[in-house]
Amino acid sequence: MNSLEYRLNLLPYTRAELIEMVKKQVSKKRFRHILGVEQSAIELAEQYGGCIERASIAGLLHDYCKEMPADVFLQAIDDFRLNVDLKTWNNNIWHGMVGASIIREQLELTDEAILHAIEIHTTGNAQMSLLDKILYVADYIELGRDFPDVQEAREIANQSLDAAVAFETAHTLAHLIAKNIAIYPLTIETYNHYCAGRK
Ligand code: GDP
Ligand code: FE
Ligand code: FE
Repeated sequence: MNSLEYRLNLLPYTRAELIEMVKKQVSKKRFRHILGVEQSAIELAEQYGGCIERASIAGLLHDYCKEMPADVFLQAIDDFRLNVDLKTWNNNIWHGMVGASIIREQLELTDEAILHAIEIHTTGNAQMSLLDKILYVADYIELGRDFPDVQEAREIANQSLDAAVAFETAHTLAHLIAKNIAIYPLTIETYNHYCAGRK
């Protein structure tokens, strides 16, 4: 993977420069997770015919905003004229849904396919692109993840990307419900479409 060079001019940086920028934004533990997601995203892109370079950039940037304070997101919701309902959520939702706009501006990333995958990487939605699914699943199964069903999730991802989206969504929902955590509407959309077969 160290030999991966970006060729599509999606960013004004090399991969090595991007990695240094990400490293400055997050804790060591989060940085390791991010590198793991990049690797898993590249592997899924190879297996399912996705764009390797977009998978790499999406993986490296998906949690870029994860450790930013709440006031940055609240300001960004105003600055980028995002839906004000977002203000009632928290970092778990903001780092993707608002983070994508921050990344678009701060990192001069203009590729909307990558930005969309980052935007919905926590929640999914009813109409996920191949890249959206790759990032959503890679985030869940990267090698550093260690929760009871992760091995099963990896095996399912090896068989079918849609089945992996469904498995992850059902497990995340069950986890949120068990803890009485509010469900973001897009997460329900993902559930209805990928788990319950609604069109
Ligand atoms: P991470 O950033 O690598 O930790 O992973 P994610 O971006 O996928 O998830 C961040 C957090 O958001 C996790 O704790 C998820 O359980 C949580 N999360 C996922 N879906 C929802 C949702 O619909 N509502 C809320 N409130 N949290 C969610
Ligand atoms: Fe995340
Ligand atoms: Fe993540």
